[in-house]
Amino acid sequence: MAKILIAGGGVGGLAAALATARHGHRVTVLERRDSFTELGAGIQLGPNAFHALDRLGVGDAVRERAVFIDALRFMDGTTDREVRSMPLTGAYRTRFRNPYAVVHRTCLYEPLLAACRATEGIELRTDSPVVRYEQDAGSVTAVLAGGERLTADALIGADGIRSTVRGQLLGDGDPRVSGHTIYRSVIPMAKVPEDLRWNTVTLWAGPKWHFVHYPVGGGEFLNLAATRDDGATEAVAGVPADRDRVLAEFPDLGSTARRLLELGENWKAWVLCDRDPADRWTDGRVALLGDAAHPMLQYAAQGACQALEDAVVLGALLDGPAADVVQRLEKYHAVRNERTARTQLVAREMGRQLYHPAGEAARERNAMLAAMTVDDLYDTVQWLHGERDFGAGADR
Ligand SMILES: Cc1cc2nc3c(=O)[nH]c(=O)nc-3n(C[C@H](O)[C@H](O)[C@H](O)COP(=O)(O)OP(=O)(O)OC[C@H]3O[C@@H](n4cnc5c(N)ncnc54)[C@H](O)[C@@H]3O)c2cc1C
Repeated sequence: MAKILIAGGGVGGLAAALATARHGHRVTVLERRDSFTELGAGIQLGPNAFHALDRLGVGDAVRERAVFIDALRFMDGTTDREVRSMPLTGAYRTRFRNPYAVVHRTCLYEPLLAACRATEGIELRTDSPVVRYEQDAGSVTAVLAGGERLTADALIGADGIRSTVRGQLLGDGDPRVSGHTIYRSVIPMAKVPEDLRWNTVTLWAGPKWHFVHYPVGGGEFLNLAATRDDGATEAVAGVPADRDRVLAEFPDLGSTARRLLELGENWKAWVLCDRDPADRWTDGRVALLGDAAHPMLQYAAQGACQALEDAVVLGALLDGPAADVVQRLEKYHAVRNERTARTQLVAREMGRQLYHPAGEAARERNAMLAAMTVDDLYDTVQWLHGERDFGAGADR
């Protein structure tokens, strides 16, 4: 049995705690905030996330609160027309052996938190910001802001896109500011006209912008997320945005999408960041996980899904005695690196090639998507949605 420290109690940190504790280790999660909470709005979960959640023992708890949507719809936001729709029922669920769902973030986070609380061997600590680590041949020590020192066999940096652990491990500076601003709002479904209540993830694409919406909270709310490629140069996270400003940012939105955007209230803005794939996530007894390891734009809706996959693989590879932790962490990186790097790069390209083209490029995109059969669409997402092993070495 090993002693494991996890810096960060987000989705990735809690999943890693569950994954390692179920292999018999003693785990302490060190969260810098004063409570274990997840803010934010909706989140999409592919079948790969449910495969991971099942292995963590919380799949059914998340399913209970999820909305199982019927399709991913791609619309031309300027003409108001559907370009292509990928059905997510029947054949999709059979092929990928789990549903595609949308949830409020708390509906993912709370089951993970409840499972951690119910698992012997997991200690959850708030007000515990990790400021650095030290290590020698036999152990690693996490140093907290107040000077407290905690020693263990391994330290997992699951401390998000601005990871302190990564800062020490890789020293690669701030994340890349994408230049894209996303405005998000969650409104009661009761305020949405009946003819706009669709059980789909709907994406309206336009020149240098796109607008996505889907139901969350068991269908009681509608999640709205409108993104503009505005060249923003500074990272922003969750600042209130005036409704008139949001509406002004999307002037050429077609009439149906505009009706939906106008429903938004209490908008908040983020300027999105990501990083290039890193060729190293480990330093001896220290490893990165989730956004700390591979932060990505949300365009493939996979950041949290990949963090869950990381956790499952890490847990499986840390099975057994603590003797060769360093080699096992290196193996974890080797197993996960290619898949997460591909997802990071694909997410970036989806914004450029699919969501934001204008003029002739947009017409070509529409023609390309419209010509795809449902099987073509499923083949395209097979590598992402259809993966059950998350790389060699995961348990089944
Ligand atoms: C607009 C938007 C939409 C998205 N949509 C999707 C989607 O549809 N599907 C999907 O799968 N993903 C989506 N994502 C990505 C997803 O939100 C992230 O990938 C996921 O939350 C990463 O989890 P994490 O645990 O790695 O990091 P985080 O959630 O950032 O958690 C990190 C935790 O570490 C704590 N922390 C930070 N520093 C320290 C420290 N020094 N010491 C201790 N604790 C620390 C933080 O307080 C936090 O609790 C989206 C992201 C955005 C921005």
